[in-house]
Amino acid sequence: MTTNRHEEKIHRAELLKQGKNKCTVCYAVKSVAMFHRNKQQQWGISSICKVCTHKRRVAWYQENATHARDYSKAWARAHSVQVQQRALAWNRAHPIRRREIVRTSTRKRRAKKQAVHEQFTTEMERFVFQFWGSRCAVCGETKNCCIDHWHPLSRGNGLTITNAVLLCLRCNSKKHAKLPDQHYTPEFVETIRSRLSKQEQQWLALPLTLAEFDDICNLDAIGVA
Ligand SMILES: [Zn+2]
Ligand SMILES: [Zn+2]
Repeated sequence: MTTNRHEEKIHRAELLKQGKNKCTVCYAVKSVAMFHRNKQQQWGISSICKVCTHKRRVAWYQENATHARDYSKAWARAHSVQVQQRALAWNRAHPIRRREIVRTSTRKRRAKKQAVHEQFTTEMERFVFQFWGSRCAVCGETKNCCIDHWHPLSRGNGLTITNAVLLCLRCNSKKHAKLPDQHYTPEFVETIRSRLSKQEQQWLALPLTLAEFDDICNLDAIGVA
């Protein structure tokens, strides 16, 4: 038993020299960037990888949901000034991320109004901007571009990776709530359709990122993280 533990230690030290660490939960060897810092641990690094840590937190939250929500609500009420100041400071320090969050929640609210369930994350939003080269799909304009529901929300179409096109404000307001084939030529509709399927393929080929995991679980918003 002692030898095993000793060998384990040597093994870990060797891995760390190569910038790697082995997770004690999933046993995968990963880059040290995939582990949180932990001053209490030997070598100052957590022995559980970020993905496993996150999964544990999610599992914990699911088991303790009601209690956790009541607790964080009560804490926020008792420290309202502190909470407000912290939020303001965070907003000032992360202006771009804040705009993304506002956009996502505005979109969710609009979708809810139309009784459409949307699960469009900020990771997807970034990907869509990148995919269209931050240019309007119709006129190529780079200013004031935003993500458009290609098949309009007002007709019950939620925002998905196969329904998200980048349009400038002008092209967006011209199209408004019309269906693509009511407003564009059949050739252009076909071009966009094939680009949208390429968009989906490229999106599905990406690995799930931690930020995306965060978005899905939204732990920060409920104060568990
Ligand atoms: Zn792990
Ligand atoms: Zn345009």
